[in-house]
Amino acid sequence: MFYHALDGNRVECKLCFRQCVILSGARGFCRNRENRGGRLINIVYGLPSAVHVEPIEKEPMHHFLPGSDVLCIGTAGCNFRCKFCHNWHLSQRSLEGMLFTYELPPEIVVAEVKKLGVPGISFTYNEPTAFYEYMYDVARLARANGIRIIFHSNGAMAIEPLQTLLTYTDAVTIDLKAFSERFYREICQAELAPVLLGLKTIKTAGIWLEIVNLVIPGQNDTPQEVREMTAWIKDELGPEVPLHFSRFFPNYRMTDVIPTPVSTLESCRKIAMEEGLKYVSVGNVPGHRYNSTFCPGCGKVVIRRHHFTVRYVKIDAGACRHCGHLIRGVWQ
Ligand code: SF4
Repeated sequence: MFYHALDGNRVECKLCFRQCVILSGARGFCRNRENRGGRLINIVYGLPSAVHVEPIEKEPMHHFLPGSDVLCIGTAGCNFRCKFCHNWHLSQRSLEGMLFTYELPPEIVVAEVKKLGVPGISFTYNEPTAFYEYMYDVARLARANGIRIIFHSNGAMAIEPLQTLLTYTDAVTIDLKAFSERFYREICQAELAPVLLGLKTIKTAGIWLEIVNLVIPGQNDTPQEVREMTAWIKDELGPEVPLHFSRFFPNYRMTDVIPTPVSTLESCRKIAMEEGLKYVSVGNVPGHRYNSTFCPGCGKVVIRRHHFTVRYVKIDAGACRHCGHLIRGVWQ
């Protein structure tokens, strides 16, 4: 799906912002899309390497069926090269580098979800763009069976495939990794502009959207950058998109940076609230007060969380139980 044939059996992939031109026998930057004699094949189709039942809060996803478990699926491969990746053992390896893979065609995935009795599937762990065709087929079949579909992405899919996928999607978490082209170029070998376009496309499609920003000391944490990012979110996506500031821990090729001070995360949240965002949380800090959701109307807790566990939900028919203020989200 989503490629053009070129002369000499070459193909141009149109799936993500990179638009790789791939010679016959070679693969694209994501390591998964392989040109076989002028046909572009996704080599991880039906071959996930990570399959687990997890709380939806882990995505993170706070305003969509809180307290639910979902079946989470990931494969090898990614179209970014983030130095801080926490799932590098999947994302920064090819299929051949996986310790194991499952053989799970879409109909088996859907049958398993029904057997488990969980309400949805989340495509996560590595970048779902890297296994687009598999995700798309699972999503289409799952939706026909009343199963909800979520994906967690870097947001740099090209617009046509993104819109096609959104037809079968209920909710999306996007990593907005920073608000500077420098960060995207130097730290991720990627670009910011396609991510911003992807965010606007998801919002315009009316799909439930949440954003996570991993705050890395010295890389994306200046008050000015945080203010610019949160102002952009409010102006372009609206004040009710939940934003999660997540704590960084050293990993992969970024082991020389300290874990994010909790005070920095709290400062980021303060700036975002000053800019007018209504639902801003602090993540990856178990037990932190701002991991819960507060009513913008009365300021009381409407969803109490401890890390990934929901202690209680005080939202009735989409409104705060204390004051009746409307809380945006998908609650059933
Ligand atoms: S999906 Fe993969 S092959 Fe296609 S443009 Fe993106 S990185 Fe290149």
